[in-house]
Amino acid sequence: MTHLTHVYFTFLILLGFNACSPPPITPVGNAKPSRDAHLALGNPSQALKDPAKPDNYLMEKETYALSYNSAKGQANWVAWHLSKAWKGGAPRQDNFRIDQDLPAGFSRVSSGDYTNSGFDRGHLCPSDDRDSTVGDNSSTFLMTNIIPQSPNLNRISWLAFENYCRNLMDGNQELYIYAGGYGKGGEGTSGVKEVLNGKVQVPSHCWKIAVILPVGTNDLARVSEQTRVIAIDMPNTQTVNQQSWGDYRVSVDFLEMVTGYDFLSNVPEAVQMVLEAKTDSGPTQ
Ligand code: MN
Ligand code: MN
Repeated sequence: MTHLTHVYFTFLILLGFNACSPPPITPVGNAKPSRDAHLALGNPSQALKDPAKPDNYLMEKETYALSYNSAKGQANWVAWHLSKAWKGGAPRQDNFRIDQDLPAGFSRVSSGDYTNSGFDRGHLCPSDDRDSTVGDNSSTFLMTNIIPQSPNLNRISWLAFENYCRNLMDGNQELYIYAGGYGKGGEGTSGVKEVLNGKVQVPSHCWKIAVILPVGTNDLARVSEQTRVIAIDMPNTQTVNQQSWGDYRVSVDFLEMVTGYDFLSNVPEAVQMVLEAKTDSGPTQ
């Protein structure tokens, strides 16, 4: 930390600046927050909009993009851009429902497939990241954006990192986020399960990657070896740490190994090499 930065932080503390709000970043060139392409940094599994490949089927919605896996009854990954341009005052819709945009013949998961399972309907793209309009918020309740999460994961550790990402957004940053599950078998309130209602595979772990940039334009070209990237890997259990999401940080390389995907594939290989080997050690609130 430079002396001037130190003075700045001390100044904020003296002002009573809340520790939950990171210091605001100056937007690049007076840029305003915008809605940018969810897959600008890459399509991790090279998903295609090809109904002949039901286990890696690309769906591009206005509010997020995903690769659907019909055999698992959930997305392999969901990707979304987060900035204040996606935010507003629309109330939470809570209308979990079948995604009718799935091609004929694909496994269609309904809200009822989770009922009494001991697992929460866990959002990948969070409801609170999309509340500009009722329609935007409603889109996050499509079951293609939902995975079975243990309640203590969904409501505590996972939520804490979602909140941290929105705090960064409030500080004039924009984020490119990927999330999904891997492995088989999680622990909910009714014990360990591998599949819900014969349709929905329960992941053993839930992961997320967030690439963080000051608000600006031409985002892909701004990703550098200094860009902050946070990768997390949380066990899908009731005993997941209940306080600090930061304890679950890993490298992107680790998540590439366990998922088999190539994240940030549109970023130059030399920059990926550096960014993906690191494990974030930055602030956690
Ligand atoms: Mn941008
Ligand atoms: Mn990569």
